[in-house]
Amino acid sequence: MSEVRRDIVTDTWVIVDTENDALPQVPLPRPEAAEDCPFDEGKENRTPNEIYAIRDGTKPNTPGWKVRVIPNIKPILRIEGELEKTGVGVYDMVTGTGANEVIVETPEHILNFFDLSDEQIGHVLRTYRERIVDLHKDKRMRYILIFKNHGRLAGASTIIHTHSDLIALPATPVRIKQKLNGAREYYGYKERCLFCDIIQQEIEMADRLVFQSDKFVVVTPYASRFPFEILILPKRHSFSYKEIEHEEIVDLAQALKKILQLMYFVLGDVPYNLILNDSPNLIPRTGYWQTIQQDYHWHIEITPRIYRTTGFELGTGFYINRFSPERAASALRSSL
Ligand SMILES: [Zn+2]
Ligand SMILES: [Zn+2]
Repeated sequence: MSEVRRDIVTDTWVIVDTENDALPQVPLPRPEAAEDCPFDEGKENRTPNEIYAIRDGTKPNTPGWKVRVIPNIKPILRIEGELEKTGVGVYDMVTGTGANEVIVETPEHILNFFDLSDEQIGHVLRTYRERIVDLHKDKRMRYILIFKNHGRLAGASTIIHTHSDLIALPATPVRIKQKLNGAREYYGYKERCLFCDIIQQEIEMADRLVFQSDKFVVVTPYASRFPFEILILPKRHSFSYKEIEHEEIVDLAQALKKILQLMYFVLGDVPYNLILNDSPNLIPRTGYWQTIQQDYHWHIEITPRIYRTTGFELGTGFYINRFSPERAASALRSSL
């Protein structure tokens, strides 16, 4: 069991694995060879039993799947157990209750998300929705974070077969809370969704607009923390990814493939993180957030990890970005 410890000085949380006794390896261990990949079709017995899969009538944990969701082999949080808050002298901690799942995005040994077909990316996006809907039934799961780590500098594991990670958390993370509070405050005095206003302004100004599809806009955010940071927003106001509709999934699959390909053309095989910014689970606190359905607007962030975080970022909590979002958008547009 891990512990979720609160840093009482900064009021931030850290998940500490209290069981692992293997010293960290420096430099990082090499990625697994293709023939040893446990995520390929036919090697289902090398992973824990699946939690969910898209299959055409085949039996669980056998070949014949399109997307497969399995528990993380080394979970940092466990689904069993009650959520317990404990004081440790001046410190606080919560037991590491949560879920830690891996979404295997294809039965074939493919390394780049954008090499999947539009249809296959659609299956992955549908799986995201299914897992969020399912995990929100559990009151202990306050926030479901789905993300991708591509490349070792972005924190990818030794398994390089394209996959996403899902971590269900017992508390809403600080960064999400900041976003929720910012959106609520804006709604409080304008009575409009902040993100809907951002979409409108970015389309009008166009200097940070990379492209727009029928249902999504792809921009480089005004205060991008990283060179070539990307923000993808649904044009239809929607507070939760759970509400995504079939046509939006089809459209988003194409948009995601297109922006990742563009990044590849411009930057090469750059390490990146992709993060789905969704609403928290509202079930544990009915009535607590009256306007969230109007004021929050789900979105996806992609952050290329070209430079390592420096002492400045660690010391200040804010970022130096050495390539403006306007130039990044223009470079990406010129490869369209
Ligand atoms: Zn593989
Ligand atoms: Zn909105």
